[in-house]
Amino acid sequence: MTAQQKIKWRRLRACSACDMVSAIPVLRPGEQACCPRCGHILARRHLHPVQRSIALAMSALISLLVAVAFPFISMDTNGLDSQIALPETAATLVSVNQPLVAFIVSCTAIVLPGLYLVGVILMQANVLRRVPRAYSDVIARLFSRMHPWMMADVFMVAALVSLVKLTDIGEVQLGVSFWAYCVFALLLLKTTRSVDIDLLWFKLAGEPPPDLSIRCGINAAEQHAVGCKTCGLVNALPATDSQSNISEPDNYVCQRCGSDLYVRKPNSEQLTWALLLTAAILYIPANAYPMMITTSLGQSHASTIIGGMVELWQHGSEPVAVIIFVASVLVPIVKMLVLVLLLWLARHPGPLNAQQKTRLYRITELIGRWSMVDVFVVAIMVALIQSGNLMSVLPGPAALAFCAVVITTMLAAMAFDPRLLWDIQGKQQYDRVTR
Ligand SMILES: [Zn+2]
Ligand SMILES: [Zn+2]
Repeated sequence: MTAQQKIKWRRLRACSACDMVSAIPVLRPGEQACCPRCGHILARRHLHPVQRSIALAMSALISLLVAVAFPFISMDTNGLDSQIALPETAATLVSVNQPLVAFIVSCTAIVLPGLYLVGVILMQANVLRRVPRAYSDVIARLFSRMHPWMMADVFMVAALVSLVKLTDIGEVQLGVSFWAYCVFALLLLKTTRSVDIDLLWFKLAGEPPPDLSIRCGINAAEQHAVGCKTCGLVNALPATDSQSNISEPDNYVCQRCGSDLYVRKPNSEQLTWALLLTAAILYIPANAYPMMITTSLGQSHASTIIGGMVELWQHGSEPVAVIIFVASVLVPIVKMLVLVLLLWLARHPGPLNAQQKTRLYRITELIGRWSMVDVFVVAIMVALIQSGNLMSVLPGPAALAFCAVVITTMLAAMAFDPRLLWDIQGKQQYDRVTR
């Protein structure tokens, strides 16, 4: 193959974290291609990735069906037996006038992961049978957006926290569903990691030859190109007069997958600020109002997030109190503060270099969903303890407010474009050279 032909068949990718263009080599099973500048993974190859995804997704789906069909936890309190199956968690929340919390809990713990697994099986089966289907593209486009909202692992940690709380009240027994859900959470995690988006799009739509003018080692935006967020393909944009303004949205679609292309996320900073402000305002009622109202022998007792944590500590459940403190207090506050810092660093030179800033952003992106632990704990406790005046648990007004805090902080992290952190560094270097 001549040098010209080699250039013609390069597989170019623009890093979604720093925007640098790289040509990725042919990957063997077990290998991954990382961005040479920031270390972000551009593509990862497994052995028999399609068959592996189908096998994992099928096993996860069977585990989920078992988890939904059988009792999750049963409890004996002073001779009163109660047990819950997973679908009852949402149904009980609806019956106690918390339909929104019920919707969020059931979507994140059961419905979305279930739909994702069905999607993986359908799409990978089409790839295996080499039958092109229009819906395969739709499913593949949805995949990247679904990942953060599937919280089976968080629900599992919440179930363990609930167990510790429940052992104080009565004798707890774990149902078949509990163990099935553990297996499901693990298999779901493995399925999401097994889906090879790079290979998938290659099988679904091939690899259009790259624009010969695009060079590696330079930001895509500087070459008037853009990396597709969904399939990774580098698209050359038509030259326009506004090409110097890289923050402006462009109404182009990817030539391979049809997703909208943006040089930088449109209104990224404004949207992140707005969502952060909303989260900060919602954080006040989330902490001021009770998260859970417990009625025991006719006497009601309301506990806030902090109050519930202190009670756990006083009852000798220090590790669980620490988990709740980290998930419900530390994570939301740290996440909001770090995003404010990143927004400031996207405009001003700071003490951190771009790699450190990107790492900080990745951490805030990863930890946000773990704040849902307390909401899931409330959902499980409410579903299990409903014995009228004798013993019952109701969700307080803070449950919905806290749910909203978690969702808005997650949306804020998604709205922020990490490539802005590299743009400011590039601008500083350019200013230094030209001064
Ligand atoms: Zn990078
Ligand atoms: Zn694309």
